[in-house]
Amino acid sequence: MDPLLAVDRSMGRLAKWLRLLGYDTVFDPGMGDREFLSLAEQGRILITRTRALFGKAGEARMVEIVDGDPKVQLAETVKRLGLRIDRSKAFGRCIRCNVPVEPIERERAANRVPDYVFETHQDFAHCPRCKRIYWRGSHQNKGLAMLESVI
Ligand SMILES: [Zn+2]
Repeated sequence: MDPLLAVDRSMGRLAKWLRLLGYDTVFDPGMGDREFLSLAEQGRILITRTRALFGKAGEARMVEIVDGDPKVQLAETVKRLGLRIDRSKAFGRCIRCNVPVEPIERERAANRVPDYVFETHQDFAHCPRCKRIYWRGSHQNKGLAMLESVI
């Protein structure tokens, strides 16, 4: 089973990329340190760059990141946790809400995505929470290729 993750407030880009790869990732910039640490007790692995938190959740429950570059952060996280890029899982999760997206009928995407996107794509999904529309397209594949090259 995929590990459940939590990323501290200093690494928003990393959180977005992990969600994009399909990993369940808590990220809440308004969350305090104590609440963040409590996520480890709920079975999540904490990924943090906050030095004051280093060592506070046990080695198996925390990935300590030093580098400020999101690409290095991603590479480190992937290496430490042995994450894999599974193309079938990528883009299966809303990058804003961290909930799985659901397929919708193509007609429901009309007028909610740019016309050229609607004309050139068959499969659409939406986030059940924020209603953002997702579709598989060349920009997604480019994004994935970029992340693969980082990893
Ligand atoms: Zn959403």
